[in-house]
Amino acid sequence: MRLILLGPPGAGKGTQAQRLVAKYGIVQLSTGDMLRAAVKAGTPVGKQVQDIMARGALCPDDLVVAIVGARIEEPDARKGFILDGFPRTVPQAAALDRLLADKKLNLDAVIELKVDEDALIRRIESRIAEMRARGEALREDDSPEVLHKRLKAFRELTAPLIAYYRDHGTLRSVDGMASIEEVAAQIERALPKEAPKQAPQQPSKPAARSAGSTGQMGAQMAAEIGKKSRTRTAKPRPGAAKPGRK
Ligand code: AMP
Repeated sequence: MRLILLGPPGAGKGTQAQRLVAKYGIVQLSTGDMLRAAVKAGTPVGKQVQDIMARGALCPDDLVVAIVGARIEEPDARKGFILDGFPRTVPQAAALDRLLADKKLNLDAVIELKVDEDALIRRIESRIAEMRARGEALREDDSPEVLHKRLKAFRELTAPLIAYYRDHGTLRSVDGMASIEEVAAQIERALPKEAPKQAPQQPSKPAARSAGSTGQMGAQMAAEIGKKSRTRTAKPRPGAAKPGRK
């Protein structure tokens, strides 16, 4: 199964991606995670994108497309993948179409998490404030100012993908403001029924545990991006969906 999760920052894409990973035994490919790993490892790519990410802007399309192209070549992505945070622009979506066509692969669905932006901003801002009050470390791009810029980038550059995928017939929209369980149920209903549902991965398999959303990368990109992956389970992001919220 190959899916895209589409939605603004803080809509709960990572949370839902993890559930789908556990359920279908496919990998979550988060370009944000891969780029943060590169920044953390101080690779040339990391140095190139550090400032861009810190100010909430988007990294160059070519660079992100190259990273995803290398990542989906890896063995753990063969069973399927969930793209989280990619594509983020129409040129990225067009490049993904070409990448998949070259490999004779298709997308099963593009899941749009529909959210009320004002409610989202309030939710993320209050969680940032709570984390600050508790003295918890925030990511460099977790500030209300950067959040507003990231939302602006989403509106201007990523929102057009909704029409793009609607035209392609792959778009499925779910209510991203519902509880985690309800969003998961809506996604489940939105997935194409004919898609083969694979058995969940055994947690004891080393490959399943270690790959994470950054994976091992293909030769060139591995050197560039660095292999130290971070998993979203380690530290929930401010604004990430919480059970029971509405
Ligand atoms: P995320 O964790 O998906 O919110 O991504 C964090 C940051 O990484 C974004 O604000 C961008 O600077 C960068 N980024 C992640 N994915 C992409 C992408 N597909 N295209 C461009 N920049 C990206």
